[in-house]
Amino acid sequence: MSPEVKVAIVGAGPAGIAAAMQLKRSGIAPLLFEYGRVGGLLHNANLVENYPGFPYGIGGAELAALFRKQLEHVGVEICCEEVLTLDHTGGDFIIETTGRMVTAGIVVLASGTKPQKFTGSEITEGATGKIFYDIDPLRERTGMMIAIVGAGDAAFDYALNLAQKNRAVIINRGSTSRALPLLQQRAQASPRIEERTETRIEKIEGTGEGLVLHLAAPGGKGSLSVDSLLVATGRGPRLDYLVSGLCSRVGRLQAEGALHLVGDVRQGEYRQATIAVGDGVRAAMQIFHGLRGNAR
Ligand SMILES: Cc1cc2nc3c(=O)[nH]c(=O)nc-3n(C[C@H](O)[C@H](O)[C@H](O)COP(=O)(O)OP(=O)(O)OC[C@H]3O[C@@H](n4cnc5c(N)ncnc54)[C@H](O)[C@@H]3O)c2cc1C
Repeated sequence: MSPEVKVAIVGAGPAGIAAAMQLKRSGIAPLLFEYGRVGGLLHNANLVENYPGFPYGIGGAELAALFRKQLEHVGVEICCEEVLTLDHTGGDFIIETTGRMVTAGIVVLASGTKPQKFTGSEITEGATGKIFYDIDPLRERTGMMIAIVGAGDAAFDYALNLAQKNRAVIINRGSTSRALPLLQQRAQASPRIEERTETRIEKIEGTGEGLVLHLAAPGGKGSLSVDSLLVATGRGPRLDYLVSGLCSRVGRLQAEGALHLVGDVRQGEYRQATIAVGDGVRAAMQIFHGLRGNAR
């Protein structure tokens, strides 16, 4: 194995963490870049019940903390830097971070997703500071009325999380929800959660205190006063640091084993921590066998 081949990983969510730990086990010390929190999107999850090993489920932030502990235990160092650009020239990747420029022979992209901007509603100026795409700023709130726009697992998970200390209203423009029946049943059983289906937000108006949502539903138009709005209407891959010339070469570099996309950043339909972890381990094993000249 060539000792000069450096492996860099962009993102320390479940996928990047799993890849880093498996590489370390194989005798390869990767450069693991993370600009946010170790554990990534998992911090947003209320209760993770499908991750083997936790018979009663585990909070997302708690699981992320265990991941971090395990990284430290196996001796993987985290570079607290944002990858600003990634290019590939002369057979090497050039990585520009907030702190330095480094080269690497192999790169694992584990940068997850970013929320899709909420569009289609008129939003007045005073409203923007009360519209959130992440549950973190709302986590410590109590006694508030929080609207959540969306209809998938994330919207229901957010509602169940926030309704522990607040009231939540899920605004779904469709007539049915795509969320797991289990989450829907729990939300229906909660006196603090209301779901409004076939309801569109036409306008979001900022008031001194909060927001007024102007809604349109088959029964007519109306308004709803809330303290904040949390958007859960979908996420797309976070790959904005790839220089434009690299995007067209991603497929070829993947086929050569130089570039690996793992976890949610892949365009996959199914985005789960459990899948991301498996992806990360698989990529690390492919890298190890590839470097040994024993590709499988
Ligand atoms: C509300 C909610 C509930 C969920 N519940 C569950 C559940 O019960 N079970 C389950 O299995 N999954 C659940 N998930 C999904 C799970 O959180 C994700 O599938 C998983 O976190 C994806 O892991 P990842 O490593 O691919 O990406 P992410 O977790 O998104 O991690 C990507 C990391 O990359 C970092 N990053 C991005 N760009 C850069 C850059 N340029 N430089 C440096 N770092 C960068 C980010 O800061 C982030 O930490 C839930 C998600 C949500 C939103």
